[in-house]
Amino acid sequence: MEPHKEARTPGDPVAWLPGTLRTQTPEEEEPRVGGSAPAASVLDAEACGASADGLWDLPVEPAERRPECSHCSRPQKVCLCPFLPAHPVHISTYLYIIQHPAEENKVLRTVPLLAACLPKDKCKIKIGRRFSEERDPELSTICQKSDTLILYPGAEAADLEEFILDSPVYPSTIIIIDGTWSQAKDIFYKNSLFRLPKQVQLKTSISSQYVIRAQPTNRCLSTLECAAVALSILEKNNYIQETLLRPLQALCSFQLQHGAQIRLSKEHLLKNGLYPKPMPKNKRKLRKMELLMNSIKI
Ligand SMILES: [Zn+2]
Repeated sequence: MEPHKEARTPGDPVAWLPGTLRTQTPEEEEPRVGGSAPAASVLDAEACGASADGLWDLPVEPAERRPECSHCSRPQKVCLCPFLPAHPVHISTYLYIIQHPAEENKVLRTVPLLAACLPKDKCKIKIGRRFSEERDPELSTICQKSDTLILYPGAEAADLEEFILDSPVYPSTIIIIDGTWSQAKDIFYKNSLFRLPKQVQLKTSISSQYVIRAQPTNRCLSTLECAAVALSILEKNNYIQETLLRPLQALCSFQLQHGAQIRLSKEHLLKNGLYPKPMPKNKRKLRKMELLMNSIKI
C-alpha cells in the first residue's frame, strides 16, 4: 500500500498507474544478465510495500539472457511482431516516456511494445531519475514549451479530454513517466522540469487489460495503456488505442496460456474478501486499506 500512500493525490478517480507489483510466470520471468532483474524485483517489492514472501524466487546465479527480437524486444520464441501494426501508427503528437532505470530491466515491460508501434521520431524514451537543462537540453526545451503536457495524476491535473476542448494551444507533446508509483512520484517531484508542462490525467472507465500484473485498483492502467488512451484522445482517433493495445492483449493471452494467472487488483481482492494476507496492524495502513475497499481515492 505504500506506493498508493506516496503517489496518489486527492482528486477524482484517475486511470493512470505506472508499473506496480511484479509477478513471475514460468514462461517469462527469468534473471537478466548481471542479476539486474532480481534487483529490480526487490525494488518493486519495496516500493509497493508488498511482502516478497513466496512471490519471487531470487536466483543466486546470473543466467544467460534469452535472445530477443530486435523489433518488439520480446524473447524470440514469444515474439509479438505479428500483433504489431504493419507500419508505424501515424501520429502528430510527440510522446516522451521518462523511464525509471529499474523499469528498463523488467521482463514484462510494455514500453518496448509501445515504441515498436510508433514512428521512431515520435516516441522517445529517456531513462533516468534526474533530468536538468544541463543534462538534457532537448528535454528541457520540450518541458518549457507551452504546448507540452505531462500525464501525472493529482489535484492540479486537468482531465485531458476536457483540457483539449478549451486549450488555446493544441498540445504537440505529451510526457509519461514509466515506473512504480513511488518511482514516478520521485521523478515528478524531484525534477522541477516536469512541473513546467501542463499537468493532465485520464478519466476513463476502462479497466486495465494488463491482467498478468497486479494493479492496486481496477482503474489503474499500464504505461502502454496510458499512452494508448492519451494518444487516442489527442489524435482524436480510437483506432490508435485499438492498435496499440493489440500486442498487450497478445502478451497477456500468451502468458495466461502458459501458466500465468490473472492478477486481480488489490481493490478487487479486498472487496471480495479474497485478500490473501493479514490486514496490516499499522493504523494508518489499515485505514488506507479500508479506503481502498470502499473505493475512496487515497
Ligand atoms: Zn518481435
